[in-house]
Amino acid sequence: MNYTFGPINSRRFGLSLGIDLSPDAKSCNFDCLYCELEAAKPIDKITNPPKVEDIIKDVKAALLKEPNIEVITITSNGEPTLYEDIDALVDALNLIKGDKKLLILSNASMISDENIQATLKKIDIVKLSLDCATQKCFQKIDRPIKGILVSDIIEGIKTFSQDFRHDLIIEILVVKGVNDKDEEMDVLNLVLQDINPCRIDLGTIDRPPAFDVQPVSSETLKNLSSHFHGLPISIIHKDQPKTRIDLSEDEILHTIKRRPQSQSDIDYLFSEISKQNLEKLLDQKKVVKQKIAGVVFYSDTSRILSK
Ligand code: SF4
Repeated sequence: MNYTFGPINSRRFGLSLGIDLSPDAKSCNFDCLYCELEAAKPIDKITNPPKVEDIIKDVKAALLKEPNIEVITITSNGEPTLYEDIDALVDALNLIKGDKKLLILSNASMISDENIQATLKKIDIVKLSLDCATQKCFQKIDRPIKGILVSDIIEGIKTFSQDFRHDLIIEILVVKGVNDKDEEMDVLNLVLQDINPCRIDLGTIDRPPAFDVQPVSSETLKNLSSHFHGLPISIIHKDQPKTRIDLSEDEILHTIKRRPQSQSDIDYLFSEISKQNLEKLLDQKKVVKQKIAGVVFYSDTSRILSK
């Protein structure tokens, strides 16, 4: 069996080689409404896990075949931190990855475990999901196995972020009528101000979900993003805007001071005139352009986004 897939060209991370730690069956301690896999009872172990040496053999072969791979992504047909040998796997991948970055996509359910925190600290980019910050909303959208509290996840992420020296990304996936309320975003904002991740990806359902739920529009995502004061939010736009807007230099500065704008925000909203004005601000060094874990952000010069 081959435990790698791709490479796939990810807009957010570059050319990515995926590692699937649960190729046999979905193995997840959540059963999210929006999951791209089939709905399944949450479990706390990976079914029939592969051996570290077999995974490494596959990764080495894939890197030889496609040397331009930029990112090796630890993911799963479920939750990768449920893999019992995750620490040994990360060590082995770090030995062979060369100039590639190591990335993990996790639902954050295990982040309060000190051993998992120690393992994740050895990874270049850690992307954790946090769809809402109240237990009621968390239960509704992520449908975790019994006993998982969102307050433990939040405390775990806070502790982890304090001395994590690489890129921490928080992903929020918004489902219409579930976590798209202003009150939920306000609570999340307070939590995220403490965590201060290097990037927050705000998106919605993009592929057929496990349950009968709906995405929100890009306009809604944009409105929700205004709850996150000063944080680097990257909105994952699904659709095209009806109109792009003309902004003066002052208006752009004002917008960027409130919240750094990602390249995708600029492409989505800015007219040609706005883009020219942004270039002028860059020339005058009133705005800086920074790449955060693969995504370009524009911020005002008083804000250094990367840790
Ligand atoms: S955490 Fe990921 S794999 Fe698990 S149910 Fe949710 S979306 Fe699916």
